[in-house]
Amino acid sequence: EAHLISRRDAVLGASYRLQYRKPVHFVRGEGMWLFDPDDRPYLDFYNNVPSLGHCHPEVNAAMAEQAARISANTRYLEPQLVDYAEKLIATFPAELDRVVFTCTGSESNDLALRIARLASGNEGVIVTSYAYHGTSAAVAAVSPNLGAAVNLSPNVRIVELPGPAGIPHDQAADFFEAQVRLAIIDLQRRGIGIAALLFDSIFSSDGVWIDPPGFIAGAVDAVREAGGLIISDEVQPGFGRTGDHMWGFARHGIVPDLATLGKPMGNGFPIGAVVGRSQPMEHFGQTARYSNTFAGNTVGIATADAVLTILQRDRILDSVVSVGQYLRHGIEAIAAELPGIRGMRNAGLFFGVDIGFEDSLPAQRRAMALDLVNAMRDDGVLISTTSANEDALKIRPPLICQHEHVDKFLEVFHNSLGRITS
Ligand code: PMP
Repeated sequence: EAHLISRRDAVLGASYRLQYRKPVHFVRGEGMWLFDPDDRPYLDFYNNVPSLGHCHPEVNAAMAEQAARISANTRYLEPQLVDYAEKLIATFPAELDRVVFTCTGSESNDLALRIARLASGNEGVIVTSYAYHGTSAAVAAVSPNLGAAVNLSPNVRIVELPGPAGIPHDQAADFFEAQVRLAIIDLQRRGIGIAALLFDSIFSSDGVWIDPPGFIAGAVDAVREAGGLIISDEVQPGFGRTGDHMWGFARHGIVPDLATLGKPMGNGFPIGAVVGRSQPMEHFGQTARYSNTFAGNTVGIATADAVLTILQRDRILDSVVSVGQYLRHGIEAIAAELPGIRGMRNAGLFFGVDIGFEDSLPAQRRAMALDLVNAMRDDGVLISTTSANEDALKIRPPLICQHEHVDKFLEVFHNSLGRITS
């Protein structure tokens, strides 16, 4: 194992990071479980890409069957491409009626920025304090989460979320809107103008600060008044993660101009999309060139079609809400019994759980969260951390998660928390 790590370090780029102090090697995945070479099971409460569960047999069959028949691009007539596009668009509000496929969430955001900049004639982008929007140069430049290592664009303005700033719910919308209005004025005075408000509608890398629902509505109006577009990054919340809706923006009672998709769309196969209003999408299509070799290829479409079909057929969203509540109550019960949990937020099956004692310093809270994540890994449960200080647990199991999995998670969480806080 140590040998494999040193070989890995010798050949892979330095940006590769292994998760956990004791890295894990998985050889097989099935539903909620991953298995190491000794066939030891690990309960997956972290991976939101295989939202139908690891290695879903029907998804894999659809992928394999298409790969065996033909793998071709979007320049040929392909009924399933159109069928899937129609099916996908039908899950959005009627205003969003066009789709362009991509291969990753980063490409989706990159394309959405190009569309918004062309449609508005402006360059400025407003994002939240610790937002992450992807890997390309353009989206990394609007991703404050990447820290000092990556230069932000001079055209980006950062606004704080009400939750981490400790703003009461009844003032949250005003707090957010006021900052967005100031950012717009600043961008306009510098001749940059506002192209887009770009936000992850579950604010995952900010620490899952999603409440109160609707707090972004005033800011959305302000951006539109100034000629900017609204881009809802649905890479994390999309495809039913929040349970109450298929798309995270619905929780806030708004309809964006563009929604960007990725991660769970292919349950592991790399496929993403931008879904948007026809006006900016058509304008872009006629003015700019966009051709993406692998995006919308027949294998990706067959896979994504199977994913969406199963998500709808098996009514996965219904259980996301109820299992999410069950998990929430379980964590609340542990928080009432043991010290070390400072707060918690969730939408469906995406949780942020703040770790630390009331009087602990940020570095101590971060260390405690990390200890907890590693203790749980040792006991066979996978989670990770998020938030500005990396002191919140990030919990987001595949959407097929059931009560029995939650029970197992809570048992290990309880034991690990008790151990590291005693
Ligand atoms: N947006 C958000 C909110 C994300 O969390 C991520 C990935 N973590 C991306 C965009 C980029 O997606 P990808 O890694 O597929 O390019």
